[in-house]
Amino acid sequence: NMVAAQNYVDSVYKTVVQRNENEYEFLQAVQEIFQSLVPVFAREPKYMESGILERIVEPERLITFRVPWVDDQGKVRVNRGFRVQFNSAIGPYKGGLRFHPSVNASIIKFLGFEQIFKNALTGQAIGGGKGGSDFDPKGKSDGEIMRFTQSFMTELSKYIASDVDVPAGDIGVGAREIGYMFGQYKRLRGNFDAGVLTGKSVGFGGSLARTEATGYGTVYFVEEMLQDKGLSFAGSTVVVSGSGNVSIYAIEKAQEYGAKVVACSDSNGYIYDENGINLDTVKRLKEVERRRISDYVIEHPHAQYVEGSTGIWTIPCDIALPCATQNEIDANSAQILIDNKVKAIGEGANMPSTLEAIDLFLENEVLFAPAKAANAGGVAVSALEMAQNSSRTPWSFEKVDRKLKKIMINIYRNSIKAADEFGEPGNLVIGSNIAGFKRVADAMMMQGVI
Ligand code: GLU
Repeated sequence: NMVAAQNYVDSVYKTVVQRNENEYEFLQAVQEIFQSLVPVFAREPKYMESGILERIVEPERLITFRVPWVDDQGKVRVNRGFRVQFNSAIGPYKGGLRFHPSVNASIIKFLGFEQIFKNALTGQAIGGGKGGSDFDPKGKSDGEIMRFTQSFMTELSKYIASDVDVPAGDIGVGAREIGYMFGQYKRLRGNFDAGVLTGKSVGFGGSLARTEATGYGTVYFVEEMLQDKGLSFAGSTVVVSGSGNVSIYAIEKAQEYGAKVVACSDSNGYIYDENGINLDTVKRLKEVERRRISDYVIEHPHAQYVEGSTGIWTIPCDIALPCATQNEIDANSAQILIDNKVKAIGEGANMPSTLEAIDLFLENEVLFAPAKAANAGGVAVSALEMAQNSSRTPWSFEKVDRKLKKIMINIYRNSIKAADEFGEPGNLVIGSNIAGFKRVADAMMMQGVI
């Protein structure tokens, strides 16, 4: 049975490689999930017989579009926009928009594919989607950001609605960008469809605790994983990469739990503060003044700034929370973390560890919280924002935060349970992939060949 299942997975994967040539990130995400599912196909051949794998790996729809805009010098610029509507078996497509120069079809498809299983793990009624543009927000004026996002939404608006596809933020897209896009959507449609975007500001339908949700959720998840082994954030030394929304609120909650967070970073380099990062400074620099993390040392001269984005993993720590971007921990960085006796990894970013890095962590018995489980808190609170929008009732911060924590603990328990059931106790990579997959696969089976 295992042999037949492995052959089936290998043959479908071969077709995926042929169809998506050179899409490195997408194939990486597919490979990880496919490999996890072999024991499922071995035990439950019904999934093979109904061609679930062949179907789930092909997006329902991939939209690409031209985004023309005029910069502050009056020059016409053109970027490429994307939206992948990957899977709607359990709810409307749901997933963020990323604005970053690296964005291409492979990146959007890997993110959209991960989103299917992540969203299923939350237990909510949300399908998988993702989008974005190769637009680089770095150094752009507020006016340029507004004109770009309006042009982006002019095209995207044709494909979304609150029961169809609900975008949110991701790298390069925060409350400001969501606000401009919401305004443009409302103007084009003449429809105050509050639930068409999530991550809105609280004054027009946004949810309290949405900003904090991904970072807090990652820490809730990792704390649950640690406690299972008699460990805790309390008294631990922590390194958190990134200094965006995910990173900032992971640092905040880790500090609240009694950890000492000694480093964070941006795409240029990292800061090391042996006294523990002063989060107020990081928040002001990044959220208000939109400056670089290197400026931290101007205000805290005892701290060090080091150029380069991977050096942060050479800092000895008990817990590492990669919250920057995909493949930021390769085998080399993983080995250094292991040599420095790291106890746990919690992925706040999407796919921050390479497949080789994950294998090293698992082989060396480092506790490993994979992204699609550990960072699901952001999209989970997005779904709570949709619920508040449909009922036209805002909830308190405490209510949302309480639900978030409960959802993260459930994801942990369900993933552990699935890992146990399929003979890989403690392996959250396999457990979360299986738990997410089964929910979507069962829905697809019940809905016929779609
Ligand atoms: N971009 C986030 C993620 O990777 C959140 C998506 C959402 O809230 O829809 O899950």
